[in-house]
Amino acid sequence: MNHISFRCEGCQARIKAPAQLHGQMRSCPRCGHRFIVAPRPVEDAGPALVFDAVPASRTAPQE
Ligand SMILES: [Zn+2]
Repeated sequence: MNHISFRCEGCQARIKAPAQLHGQMRSCPRCGHRFIVAPRPVEDAGPALVFDAVPASRTAPQE
């Protein structure tokens, strides 16, 4: 299963989200900053936060 890694513009937290969330508006689970999920390079190490919220319409992820 592919994931998108990027960094929160609000708290600089490193966030990893399922690729299926690409283009969706989400709130940072750490600081609440709202952003659109999009792949961006992450240069530095930091807290890794993972979205586990999957739309109810989806079936179980293939892992
Ligand atoms: Zn944040």
